[in-house]
Amino acid sequence: MSGNSPFPDDGPKRSRYDFVIVGSGMGGATMAYALKDSGAGVLLIERGDFLPQEKQNWDADAIFMKHRYQNAEKWYDAAGKAFTPGNYYYVGGNTKLYGASLVRFRREDFRATEHADGTSPEWPFQYDDLRPYYLRAEQLYRVHGDHSDDPTLERDEPFPFPAIGHEPSVQEAAEALKRMGFTPSNIPLGIDLRDGGGCIRCASCDGFPCRVLAKSDADVCCVRPALASGSVELLTNAYVDRVRTDATGTRATGVDVTHRTSSTSIDAGTVVVCCGAVNSAALLLRSANDRHPQGLGNASGVVGRHYMVHNNTVMVGVHPTRKNTAEFQKTLYLNDFYTKGTADHPFPLGHVQLIGKLQAEMLAGQRPAIPKWALRYAAHRSMDWWLFTEDLPDPENRVSLTPRGDIQVRRVPNNVRAHQVLVREMRKLLRRMGYPLVLSQRTGIEVNSHQAGTVRAGADPATSALDANCRSHDVENLYVVDSAFFPSLPVMNPALTIAANALRVADHLTGTTATTSETVSTQHTTER
Ligand SMILES: Cc1cc2nc3c(=O)[nH]c(=O)nc-3n(C[C@H](O)[C@H](O)[C@H](O)COP(=O)(O)OP(=O)(O)OC[C@H]3O[C@@H](n4cnc5c(N)ncnc54)[C@H](O)[C@@H]3O)c2cc1C
Repeated sequence: MSGNSPFPDDGPKRSRYDFVIVGSGMGGATMAYALKDSGAGVLLIERGDFLPQEKQNWDADAIFMKHRYQNAEKWYDAAGKAFTPGNYYYVGGNTKLYGASLVRFRREDFRATEHADGTSPEWPFQYDDLRPYYLRAEQLYRVHGDHSDDPTLERDEPFPFPAIGHEPSVQEAAEALKRMGFTPSNIPLGIDLRDGGGCIRCASCDGFPCRVLAKSDADVCCVRPALASGSVELLTNAYVDRVRTDATGTRATGVDVTHRTSSTSIDAGTVVVCCGAVNSAALLLRSANDRHPQGLGNASGVVGRHYMVHNNTVMVGVHPTRKNTAEFQKTLYLNDFYTKGTADHPFPLGHVQLIGKLQAEMLAGQRPAIPKWALRYAAHRSMDWWLFTEDLPDPENRVSLTPRGDIQVRRVPNNVRAHQVLVREMRKLLRRMGYPLVLSQRTGIEVNSHQAGTVRAGADPATSALDANCRSHDVENLYVVDSAFFPSLPVMNPALTIAANALRVADHLTGTTATTSETVSTQHTTER
């Protein structure tokens, strides 16, 4: 039994599995869950351990000042400068700390979209192909939402659970936005506020692990039920060094793993790579062999390229006297700029959502020179927003390996003008909402929560690494089922789409098709 594990982990029980899934985040965990009743032998391999349930889970100082759960290795930027990425290596991956905003991309996101800096490309499948799986993913991750309050959201069926609603300070903001002609909506959220659910609606959700396991993360909603079924095995503290192939290079034969301190090889009928976009590309590049000299499944040369992460700004409106009493602040988003621009920039600007309530300790990491009392004063009177603008897939924005095998990330932001206009418009809005002081901060290379695009899917093997089912064009039993497959990065949170796609690919792997009956109303039917 490993240190934090509620499940035994004494090493793999067999030497061969039908499916070996690498990485237990949103993609890998959902895939394991979806295969649990297939009759196949499934091994889920995770480099991290279970994240401990402990009092520091909700301690902002421990997390944001002392970086208690940061366990990723150093990566390097284009100039070779080391940085610590915002990646979390645990069972459940980044979802252990995510904000559980579980949104669908919009129908138009799957088509080509014009931006000032170029075209964001069409996907190899469309919204309607994913729609039944979105619904299933919303049930699996217990999404609470309102299907009627956001004009950009095209859906007839209610969410599995009703929207959790706004606390008074957020409701006031919603009313102010409506008076100005905007359309604030409820963020679809994956938290357990069902009757009898464990969520206590606290201020320590977005950016924190959930101490009471009431956040719908990939560990809680998928890994644990998959393991409890008895048909999926999990290997933790197990780093996959490479994916092996046969002599022809057309079939993957298994993976080489460092499990704690020992090396082992595991054979697989099919290998499903779900390490997160950056690590999935790194694994394929590390797996180069005689038949795949540029990296496994990389005849196109695109593996590692087209790295996208959104243009992101955190914006804080501070009112000198009015207190923000919200505990669970992350309930409102604004899509009025989603497809629209302004007279001086007639292209999509992006998406705006509230983030978890900022606390003084969270600001202190960014502003160490400001005294704690001043940060505390501001944090009690602020409303805190996250602004995203789409970035475009540029082949020169890429993940590669240094000669020592470390991860290097090169990224020159694009579509920046759209983001600047969004920041300008939002600043005006917050002033009109009564916040005289508006502070904003662009995020740097280490903020990569929405990383995507590095093993892109497409119809043409010359310009993509994966087909529409996320199968390698070059290796017939190799799949990549995390955000690496995204041909573009639509401007909302990606996790629900990663989960829905994993369910879709699992159906492809088991020869199942989604039925239309899955699109009927499912409100309150999710099993406990
Ligand atoms: C603070 C924060 C807040 C966020 N909020 C939201 C939100 O509100 N909504 C949303 O949609 N998204 C959010 N995200 C993003 C979301 O968490 C990710 O999009 C999602 O988790 C990506 O899923 P994934 O399967 O691609 O990768 P991950 O979840 O990163 O999982 C990859 C897993 O692979 C493992 N791994 C990597 N390499 C190897 C290897 N070689 N061998 C074995 N295992 C390996 C890692 O340890 C990890 O567990 C947030 C992210 C962060 C960090």
